[in-house]
Amino acid sequence: MSEFCEKLEEKLKEVMTSERGSFRFMEPMKRHTTFRIGGPAAVFISPGSEEELREVLNLLKEENIPWTILGNGSNLLVSDEGFKGAVISMSEGWAYSGVLREDEKAGKTLIRAGAGELLSRTARLAMECSLTGMEFASGIPGTIGGALVMNAGAYGSEICNVLSRAKVMAT
Ligand SMILES: Cc1cc2nc3c(=O)[nH]c(=O)nc-3n(C[C@H](O)[C@H](O)[C@H](O)COP(=O)(O)OP(=O)(O)OC[C@H]3O[C@@H](n4cnc5c(N)ncnc54)[C@H](O)[C@@H]3O)c2cc1C
Repeated sequence: MSEFCEKLEEKLKEVMTSERGSFRFMEPMKRHTTFRIGGPAAVFISPGSEEELREVLNLLKEENIPWTILGNGSNLLVSDEGFKGAVISMSEGWAYSGVLREDEKAGKTLIRAGAGELLSRTARLAMECSLTGMEFASGIPGTIGGALVMNAGAYGSEICNVLSRAKVMAT
């Protein structure tokens, strides 16, 4: 392992203390893209919590390391040369969804979903709970986070039509 990786490994260990978080070096991106293409990411990070994500982003900024976010990799073409920076994966550990009955009297029922939750799973949950609006998303192979960034849509609807609010992390 290069001196650079050794130093980064030490620093990542300091900030990534949760059981769910993980990182590895030289991770082939072909494992994470729908089209199964892409060389290695210098470092592949799966933050285990919001706090860890914040710490990782601060560290990468301090160390001047380029980074990018990965959802389900369904809209990504990665070069065979890979990515000489950090890929932050939002699929592992961020895949959850549940129904929030905020104000049932006002008929306001929302689904709360993590950035890594698959659109198809959220659409299925909506169907099981007799909630309409997510039907368009059932065949799109991305995550909620990726859908918000791309404004994913199909069959005349798009995610912006059903989004109530989103929690974003400023960098
Ligand atoms: C067979 C097939 C069918 C498709 N059909 C449709 C379709 O009908 N409609 C449609 O709109 N798209 C479609 N797509 C494209 C793709 O599925 C969507 O663009 C989807 O929204 C991408 O989500 P993802 O999680 O896979 O994102 P990725 O491909 O992982 O990433 C896409 C972009 O979003 C960013 N990103 C991802 N997650 C986050 C996050 N949590 N925070 C910040 N940035 C993030 C990434 O950095 C990248 O720039 C299709 C793709 C395939 C392969």
